Amino acid sequence: MSDCIKGVLFDLDQTLLNRDESLIRFLSWQYSALSLSAEGISEHAYQKEFINEDKNGSVWKDKVYSKLISVFNIEGYSQDFLLRQYIERFRDHCVEVNGASKLINKLRHAALPMGIVTNGKSPFQEKNIESLGWNNDFKVILVSENVGLRKPSTEIFLLACQGLGVSPSQTLFVGDNPKSDIMGAKDAGLQTFFLKTKYHNHCDGADFTGTDLNLVSQVIFGFDSTTN
Ligand SMILES: [Mg+2]
Repeated sequence: MSDCIKGVLFDLDQTLLNRDESLIRFLSWQYSALSLSAEGISEHAYQKEFINEDKNGSVWKDKVYSKLISVFNIEGYSQDFLLRQYIERFRDHCVEVNGASKLINKLRHAALPMGIVTNGKSPFQEKNIESLGWNNDFKVILVSENVGLRKPSTEIFLLACQGLGVSPSQTLFVGDNPKSDIMGAKDAGLQTFFLKTKYHNHCDGADFTGTDLNLVSQVIFGFDSTTN
């Protein structure tokens, strides 16, 4: 095991939580629950419009639903009702990024303290983590809305390291966003692993780069540990 990594922090969306797949599952459920087919709306068009307006999670859903109501002429449901469904039911459709649980289990067995640092709404993000069965695995869970700090601010990374009880230089941050995750963590003095996705496939300055979480395990435990 690497001598210089004593703790690991993760981003949530698209790093541990497969947000694309989770969103498709939620939207499919919502489309059926609202019986939108009876209003002549196609499921594909509903999903496509949501995903387009959502901009990879960067736009809050009040705006997204307001647009959907006007585009599809939805008359039976208010923006607040649709938003509440998203807040309360998204968690039921959460799926992990391939290999996330396997990596978390491995880190837990190695007694490496872990945390999550995510920009997002609270308690929405905490509920999503809970639904994946991970809330007891993480010593620290910092959600930007809850702590009043956002990545890439160095303060939120330092606060997370403090919570782990590990110095920044001995902490590895794993995330998919070059600016908020990698640049922020780097500025705070952490080691960084950039997880490539279809949204961001290049990042200058990351200490490690890879397309799947198995490589994080290799960075921490060595390259002979891929089958474990
Ligand atoms: Mg992310």
